[in-house]
Amino acid sequence: MSKKMTSQEAIVEAKRCLHCATPSCRLGCPINNDIPAFIHALSLGNFGDAFFSLVKENSLPAICGRLCAHEKQCEPKCVLSKDSNPINISALETFLAEFSYDHQLTPLGKSKGSAGKIAVIGSGPTGLSVAGELAKKDFDVTVYEGQHELGGVLLYGIPEFRLDKNIVHKEIDNLGHYGVKYITGALIGKDLTLDDLFAKGYKAIFIGIGSALPKTLAIPGHDLTGILSANYFLRMVILANSGKLDNKETLLSNEDEVVIIGGGNVAIDAARIAVARGARLVTVVYHKSPTEMSCLATAYTAALKEGIQFKFLRQPTAYLNNKQMRTLGAMRKPQGISDNTKVSGIMLQHVAKDAKGNFIHTGGQDVIACTCVILAIGQRPAASIFSTTNGIKIDEQGFVITKDHPYGMTTRPGVFSAGDAVNGPSTVVLAIEDSKKVVKGITEYVARLQ
Ligand SMILES: Cc1cc2nc3c(=O)[nH]c(=O)nc-3n(C[C@H](O)[C@H](O)[C@H](O)COP(=O)(O)OP(=O)(O)OC[C@H]3O[C@@H](n4cnc5c(N)ncnc54)[C@H](O)[C@@H]3O)c2cc1C
Repeated sequence: MSKKMTSQEAIVEAKRCLHCATPSCRLGCPINNDIPAFIHALSLGNFGDAFFSLVKENSLPAICGRLCAHEKQCEPKCVLSKDSNPINISALETFLAEFSYDHQLTPLGKSKGSAGKIAVIGSGPTGLSVAGELAKKDFDVTVYEGQHELGGVLLYGIPEFRLDKNIVHKEIDNLGHYGVKYITGALIGKDLTLDDLFAKGYKAIFIGIGSALPKTLAIPGHDLTGILSANYFLRMVILANSGKLDNKETLLSNEDEVVIIGGGNVAIDAARIAVARGARLVTVVYHKSPTEMSCLATAYTAALKEGIQFKFLRQPTAYLNNKQMRTLGAMRKPQGISDNTKVSGIMLQHVAKDAKGNFIHTGGQDVIACTCVILAIGQRPAASIFSTTNGIKIDEQGFVITKDHPYGMTTRPGVFSAGDAVNGPSTVVLAIEDSKKVVKGITEYVARLQ
């Protein structure tokens, strides 16, 4: 994450912008943020206009400022990147959003609610973005969230050191200024069904439930204890940090050696948190090469600095218990026989890509001793909504099937979906990009109902 700027630093940085006739920074942004306009207004010290230019395209600028991979998207497109010194768009976006919330700048008005009532299920980035974009179009929007707090992965997945939870609350409150209403503790599929929501007069329903069910690896030893999902681990740590869980529950000791499987943001967050919670050794195992990791480059660099080890082009083939580790001569410390129900190591096969791009076993093999394995290999949506309503088709992996016309509509008319529930684990900015398209789809659908 970029360093937080002062107003003066932000203006000085914005003044470096060359105001290109064809600003390619904007082309690098998946949601076509009006980067040149907000930077220009900022360079003049005109914070209100700058914030207007930012929020007209993006309902979650403070979160994007912190979590977007600017180094792969807008910043390398900046003409100044030719001298390796592009405008620090990430820091300017972060500064501007936070400054505007702190000074209660609200350049967009409140929705009149005249375009119709829409229910949004889920308050992660997708649901929030859909809600914000719909409110900007004068819809009367209510967000239903199954948890008792709003924010989804932003609140319960991404660690504090990368995303201050106060920022999430401020961004959610800002959508309240546009007229978005929130109902928490309402798990749709259990407390209310989609039919109950339609009976309340909603013209369309949006499902943004993300993909919270972690995938597991069905390899020998998968039933040993000490193997957990990264989502569970990160959620427990966030609860412990906020005082809602005994801190000791998530502490690792300096005897702990943790293996993390995966190469995305979730894997790197889990690895860095494992170090922060006291683990002696943390190793990330990834089946591809370093350049293919989907995590933020800044997070990978920080992980290396924190002493996290990486093993690339390796695929797990078995979890091993204490007895198996001793048989292989790989156990560092003899442990009691009672530990045979607990993971003590992991076997990895070396892989490489063949000419067609498929991963093949090269014949090499490693065994790593460990006391805990944390899996960050993807997730799928929970099924409760789909099992309590008729007509919504999901694919064989559990993801919602949607149409291109109207964009994002499921196989049930009037019910839309987008984000991780449709596309699988992705990123905030791609969730927002999808949200903006689905809002067009909902608008077209509702217009046809009139
Ligand atoms: C640890 C971690 C780190 C990440 N780091 C980054 C990063 O640095 N940059 C980046 O761009 N992306 C990152 N991501 C990915 C990003 O957070 C997700 O792509 C994004 O959160 C998806 O948003 P979503 O709204 O589709 O789902 P979610 O954020 O999962 O939100 C879904 C919401 O729906 C609610 N819900 C589920 N079922 C129901 C129901 N039946 N009724 C009511 N509510 C329900 C859930 O409680 C939740 O609030 C990270 C993800 C994780 C887990």
